[in-house]
Amino acid sequence: MTDYMVRATAADAQIRAFAVTSRELVEYARAAHDTSPVVTAALGRLMTGALMMGSMLKGEEDILTLQIRGDGPVHGLTATADSAGHVKGYADNPQAMMPPNSAGKLDVGGVIGAGVLHVMKDMGLKEPYASTVTLQTGEIGDDLTYYFAASEQVPSVVALGVLMNRDNTVRQAGGFIMQLMPFTSEDVISRLEEKLTKITSVTELLEEGKTPEEILENVLGEFGLEITDRMPVSFRCDCSRERVEKVLISLGKKDRQELINEGKDVELHCHFCSRNYVFSVEEIKNLA
Ligand SMILES: [Zn+2]
Repeated sequence: MTDYMVRATAADAQIRAFAVTSRELVEYARAAHDTSPVVTAALGRLMTGALMMGSMLKGEEDILTLQIRGDGPVHGLTATADSAGHVKGYADNPQAMMPPNSAGKLDVGGVIGAGVLHVMKDMGLKEPYASTVTLQTGEIGDDLTYYFAASEQVPSVVALGVLMNRDNTVRQAGGFIMQLMPFTSEDVISRLEEKLTKITSVTELLEEGKTPEEILENVLGEFGLEITDRMPVSFRCDCSRERVEKVLISLGKKDRQELINEGKDVELHCHFCSRNYVFSVEEIKNLA
């Protein structure tokens, strides 16, 4: 497993930063969901953003979900991450296609279309945190940048990228987030802005062989970058046969009897990882 994330601070903690390389987990999602190249890029960007935002959560049990609803051919995308580097995600229409955009790139904004981004944080409280913002470009990095400014009042730069191989497997995936703390000096802000104008794209940096540490060093090196944490990241779905059994049990006796009367195997599908769980009539009869 080579995917990992680093967390860092710079300019005496006036800046906090995250960077991740996520090629393997995006490729895992592509294979599990059989996504088209443009959907692979969209889902990969969303999962990469979710991983970094998940790591901002405080509690071990806390969960962050990013959900996009748009009027483009993919309809919707969902990614859920915890604070320990695990993410899962799916696309409503994994096969959605879109011609390349005017720059000849995968048209993530086009396949998503106009719509909204929902950000939900389940922190073990009765009411989970939920916020909805209008999509700015549908390119996801821009939309998360806008979310941080509009909903959390944290000036941020979010860069996300996925690059495909010719055979439609994932060649590079990753991203970074840099955020200004409320006490950041004007001098640091203007120097950072200047620095960021020189950045090409995350996928280009990854293509050059840059590590997450080096990507942050590239921008924040002159601000006294300090890497504070490094953790492996991966695609992980927490579904299991036991959980699916619980769902069947929760249906109640009457609905289960109907399934039994139909006399066919029951197949349940996990959206997040595309695993199928098959229960025979005999097995359904034996459920409590
Ligand atoms: Zn699953």
